[in-house]
Amino acid sequence: MDHAFTMRMSLDGGKLLDIHGPADITKESTEAIVNAANSSLLGGGGVDGAIHRAGGPAILEECRRLVAKIGQLNPGGAVTTTGGRLAAKYVIHTVGPVYSDGASGEEETLASCYRQSIQIADDHAIGSIAFPAISTGAYGYPVGAAAETAIENVAHSLSHTHHVTLVRLILFDNTDLNIYLRVAQKLCKTRSIVPLNIEKSSS
Ligand code: ADP
Repeated sequence: MDHAFTMRMSLDGGKLLDIHGPADITKESTEAIVNAANSSLLGGGGVDGAIHRAGGPAILEECRRLVAKIGQLNPGGAVTTTGGRLAAKYVIHTVGPVYSDGASGEEETLASCYRQSIQIADDHAIGSIAFPAISTGAYGYPVGAAAETAIENVAHSLSHTHHVTLVRLILFDNTDLNIYLRVAQKLCKTRSIVPLNIEKSSS
């Protein structure tokens, strides 16, 4: 893979928001990583498949128990399981919206994925969490619009957390990374988000 790039925004209260890539989220060492799951919670393609492959069968076993207890997970909802063999201790499973025309509640549902995942992490006293670009693969959400919703809602959620101090948005390829970086710059310019400091680094 190419060298990875990180844009780190420092927000109020010592909270940090990273945009990082190109990178594989299964390698992240945050305390939790988020899975772009589907409602069945029984695994799928894309990042979902990668997380189950890397984390091993313990994750699916816990998903099965959860589904037996609560039924399917609605879009916008989030639940947590073990991270199995991953470096991350937890996987937070959330279900993004399938994009149709952009006027069918997709934005609200995607915002809910980010907010509920951070809320459930905070409830579990988790300090750091990494997200993939939910819904932008098989679910067809345009990456620019998804980036705006992701960055704004993460920044807003971080202003309320007690435990979560670091959120990393992980982009799998350079194209998506560059779109996220452009959107972040635009949101700073229009003061939709107001970082105290911005640091850029390569690794
Ligand atoms: P969805 O069904 O929510 O659209 P996908 O898994 O199809 O979920 O895609 C979501 C995003 O995750 C896409 O941008 C895809 O490139 C990205 N992705 C796929 N594999 C990984 C991975 N191992 N690490 C990080 N992101 C990934």
